[in-house]
Amino acid sequence: MEGLIMDYPLTTNTILEYGNSVYHHKKIVTYLPDRTRHEYSFGDLYRRCKKLANALTHKLGIAKGDMVGTFAWNHGPHVELYYSISGIGAVCQTINIRLSSNQIEYIINNSEDKVIFVDATLVPLLERIAPLLETVQHFILLNAPKDFVTTLPNTLHYEELLADQSEDFNWPKLNENDACGMCYTSGTTGLPKGVLYSHRSTFLHASTIMSPNAGNFSNRDTVLLIVPQFHVMAWGFPYLCLLSGSNMVLPSSNLQPDDLIKILIEEKVTKANGVPTIWLGVYHAMKLNPPKEKLVLQEYLVGGSALPKSLIEGFEKDFGIKGVQAWGMTETSPLGTVSRIQPKHEHLSENEKMEIRAKQGIAFPGVELRIVTDDGALAPTDGKTMGELHVKGAWTLSSYFKTNNNESFSEDGWFKTGDVCTIDEDGYMEIKDRTKDLIKSGGEWISSVALESALMAHPKVREAAVIAIPDEKWVEKPLALIVLVDNKGEVSMEELIEFLSRDFVKYQIPKDYIFINEVPKTSVGKFDKKEIRRLFAAGELGSN
Ligand code: ADP
Repeated sequence: MEGLIMDYPLTTNTILEYGNSVYHHKKIVTYLPDRTRHEYSFGDLYRRCKKLANALTHKLGIAKGDMVGTFAWNHGPHVELYYSISGIGAVCQTINIRLSSNQIEYIINNSEDKVIFVDATLVPLLERIAPLLETVQHFILLNAPKDFVTTLPNTLHYEELLADQSEDFNWPKLNENDACGMCYTSGTTGLPKGVLYSHRSTFLHASTIMSPNAGNFSNRDTVLLIVPQFHVMAWGFPYLCLLSGSNMVLPSSNLQPDDLIKILIEEKVTKANGVPTIWLGVYHAMKLNPPKEKLVLQEYLVGGSALPKSLIEGFEKDFGIKGVQAWGMTETSPLGTVSRIQPKHEHLSENEKMEIRAKQGIAFPGVELRIVTDDGALAPTDGKTMGELHVKGAWTLSSYFKTNNNESFSEDGWFKTGDVCTIDEDGYMEIKDRTKDLIKSGGEWISSVALESALMAHPKVREAAVIAIPDEKWVEKPLALIVLVDNKGEVSMEELIEFLSRDFVKYQIPKDYIFINEVPKTSVGKFDKKEIRRLFAAGELGSN
């Protein structure tokens, strides 16, 4: 028997309509690439979205199912594009500006973008590949001065596109399972692969992150969206801000620690997101130069790579700001787990609580996790048995775009993440490594993530990346790359070995160290282990 409830499709249009009807007075603040501040309301956003929907439909000929690319920073117009493109039934395909030209060309041709909206400051990156783009009919310039000169063909300024459009537009009736957005994986493991999100998955993902057990967002918050809109729909934040009535602050390309600190203070930001690299930078800048005005920032939500325990402790002790760890992937929309202390943990020591918070956390409602060992067995939830993390849920992909690759899925339909993890009896998942980054030394597994996190707790170490290198006796052994705080001072190998010996047994501790100025990073700011391995093999990492 079916329930007697209305058929009410969960679409991004319902989010926009809700944000306008209940929170039209809430604000969206953008710091543009030239650092000028722009502010408007959710009501203004709504009216401009309707104008854009008219322009997309009538001026650019975009129809349901078409792909529309964005190549842009985080700002108001990019949020308008999120809502209007999906609102008319087309797909907002965000292109990662930090990928290589080849990858960008591949993504645009593979997705068959008809139009690309591009920020003026990013135009040179597209000019280089424009002749190779097979399907793009128009390039629309965002934040460009009137006299902007470009070799891109068929260009139009965004504001001109909107200028004479009506604010009346009736959203078409959409199916909640229709596609609304697409993001490609960053290609760390081969060619980028498209993940096509649906209206329903987007709605459910955003409304779940809002809840107190997860991101804890409400209409009392002002949220800084540091995660780029070109990466996994900025973790769903442009949607959850309208659902929760949180003011939205968008930094565009102002991502240096000092810029972010200034924005956090001036906009009285209460919550923010970002990868650990960003928060490491902010923390060290604040330590070096403590802000005169106290930040009202309560929490920062971190994912993308492991949040070092030392960073959670440092931020909290020195500035009273809480780091909350989340885990996710492009393939999981992205958020899948979050780590918070529960009432049943209150009796634990501060250190034990910190151990829990440094785990990747428990699944969101709507997400299921399991661990499968090397021999294909389901691992017990004992917090010790390691295996590959499998995931399924209401916002996990069922297939990559235009591919039939079944290798990524188990026979019973779970997505195989490639992350090596444990799950404890309370459901807290902990990442030990990515399958390809695990170190197997003398037949024993060593977690590079655990070593990195421990090394970064040393007061003189800013960043530490650990990879496996070949060894005659042990087959593989760990090598640690060390970046010192402010690239100054000295620390000896012996001191680091001694420091690690508190938490690790002898065979796990790296005996090889290379001191460098910066760890190579991927397009989304993670340690680029593939590049580190390549540099090492080519003898280009310096000497230890
Ligand atoms: P890509 O897969 O292209 O590198 P993603 O951003 O989708 O890009 O990366 C997902 C991966 O990032 C996960 O599979 C996991 O290895 C890593 N990751 C994400 N969040 C965390 C976290 N909190 N701790 C450790 N690793 C994480």
